[in-house]
Amino acid sequence: MKISIITVIAFSALFTISCKEQVLNRAAENEVQAIFPKGEVGPAENFTGKAWNYGLVSNDTTYQTLVGNVYFEPGARSNWHIHPAGQILIITDGVGYHQIKGQPRQTIKKGDVVKCPPNVEHWHGASPDTGLQQLYIIPNTEKGIVKWMQPVSDEEYSNAK
Ligand code: MN
Repeated sequence: MKISIITVIAFSALFTISCKEQVLNRAAENEVQAIFPKGEVGPAENFTGKAWNYGLVSNDTTYQTLVGNVYFEPGARSNWHIHPAGQILIITDGVGYHQIKGQPRQTIKKGDVVKCPPNVEHWHGASPDTGLQQLYIIPNTEKGIVKWMQPVSDEEYSNAK
């Protein structure tokens, strides 16, 4: 009897430790690695949740290109918007979504490269559980950079179609 109680305690302890490790491992998996400084939080009128922007290449008359890094915290996303000259996204860590209006939502992850064509309504952001680290490149800025539109509703965000 004594042994079986000790055995139960020992197994309980092992189970508790392994559960704790699983939780810690999951937290580590969901942690997004930053390459650049986090930067400034994007304005609430253009984003749901928090998205930090850090400019890397400022716009000038020689290059007419804007490059920066955005970190979307889990669940955060941009409003619907248009880039008059298009945009290229390079995902450097995490998991998120990109959706062009009228098309199925795409899952994007570390290593993916996404082209958002000029004047196409779209949004991008993080998945609910894991943040998204993305570089953006906006070429031909003389045509315009971004036109902000309405927020992405919870229904649109969670709709996989
Ligand atoms: Mn965009």
